[in-house]
Amino acid sequence: KLDIAEKFARRLGAKVEEHTVHAVDSVDMAIMPGEVVGLVGESGCGKSTLGRCVAGVHQPSEGVIRYLGEDVTTLKGKALLESRLKVQMIFQDPMSSLNPRLKVSDIISEAPLFHGLISRSDVDEYVAATMQRVGLDPSYHQRYPHQFSGGQRQRIGIARALAVQPDFIVCDEAVAALDVSIQAQVLNLFMDLREDLGLTYLFISHDLGVVEHLSDRVVIMYLGRVVETAPTDDLFASPNHPYTQALLAEAPRLETDRRIYAPIKGEIPSPLHPPKGCHFHPRCPHAMDRCRTEIPKLKEISPGRVSACHLNDG
Ligand code: SF4
Ligand code: MG
Repeated sequence: KLDIAEKFARRLGAKVEEHTVHAVDSVDMAIMPGEVVGLVGESGCGKSTLGRCVAGVHQPSEGVIRYLGEDVTTLKGKALLESRLKVQMIFQDPMSSLNPRLKVSDIISEAPLFHGLISRSDVDEYVAATMQRVGLDPSYHQRYPHQFSGGQRQRIGIARALAVQPDFIVCDEAVAALDVSIQAQVLNLFMDLREDLGLTYLFISHDLGVVEHLSDRVVIMYLGRVVETAPTDDLFASPNHPYTQALLAEAPRLETDRRIYAPIKGEIPSPLHPPKGCHFHPRCPHAMDRCRTEIPKLKEISPGRVSACHLNDG
């Protein structure tokens, strides 16, 4: 059974997946207007599910998501659609999230027309302005997605999201499919848009280098739980949680203007049967007896920083 948000996402050509596991468990986080928050974790940690819940593409089975103070999980009908417009999502693979049978002009104008943000007579001007905004040549508005490069297609995806005038953008691995040099251009576009339009971002990535480059604050997730949150500079200078330390430990190499971090060693346990106690204990070099039974709680370790590790109990 599809809820309205999912239907809406499908109409926009967004990818909707079925979820059968509790991918996210007791996550408590707040994002301030204008902030860029990086959400990092290995695949299967629940970061995409969390992003989809925030963007309203997926409804959480429990819990509350407040947008500007309002619980969006209880909104219905028109109010729901309106709130959804304010939070847009950009996906990894523009080819599968863009309708291949629609021209760029239709991809960009479809949602704003549907929601009455523009009228038919505004379309050409609106599409041209939106294409320009994301660095696409407006004279290509009659082309189809396959006639563009990967980086340009991602710009089309960004244009489609911007066309409904959102305040908040959830980027799920939005540059992961692009070459490193193209990644840098698209990341710069995200930062320009933030500056010019005052956007807020939740930037989901498995790539610490990407997140380091553009986030004000970083949230680290492991198997459905937030294990550490810190201002970006603090996190990279002195990671607190052993999982964060492991993520940062692999010798980074420099490529273009950002560091590339290697994946950490060891199997990621199945999110279907996460380890008891601290989920990270089978891979943690500091694991103690209590780690195998007792779930560590997020605790403030310094102003603006929280971490969930029994080592912080002293
Ligand atoms: Fe390691 Fe224990 Fe801390 Fe978990 S709680 S990260 S197992 S030391
Ligand atoms: Mg994912």
